[in-house]
Amino acid sequence: MGISKGVLLIKCNKCGQEFSYDENYADFECISSDDEGCEYLWEEDYSCDCGEDIQIGYQVSEYQGHFNGDKIKISNFKILHKFDFEFMTEDSFSEDDE
Ligand SMILES: [Zn+2]
Repeated sequence: MGISKGVLLIKCNKCGQEFSYDENYADFECISSDDEGCEYLWEEDYSCDCGEDIQIGYQVSEYQGHFNGDKIKISNFKILHKFDFEFMTEDSFSEDDE
């Protein structure tokens, strides 16, 4: 179950090739959480056809079930389109998770 919606579209600064990552591909992981929400991170390494390395570090903050900002680090690539995010609603908390 992912929190990302839509696509991430990036473009190589060197050769201009575009890459897209779809919502099901990105695997955002909760790296820290408290009562107010979670901090999510997705990291990805890839190589462009021209030899440039893509390193993505995509961090997203959730505050009380709502999007609360993101920080994206992508080396040598330009971001054309970012993901949208949808977080768990309160219904999801009905399950006990020990
Ligand atoms: Zn390239």
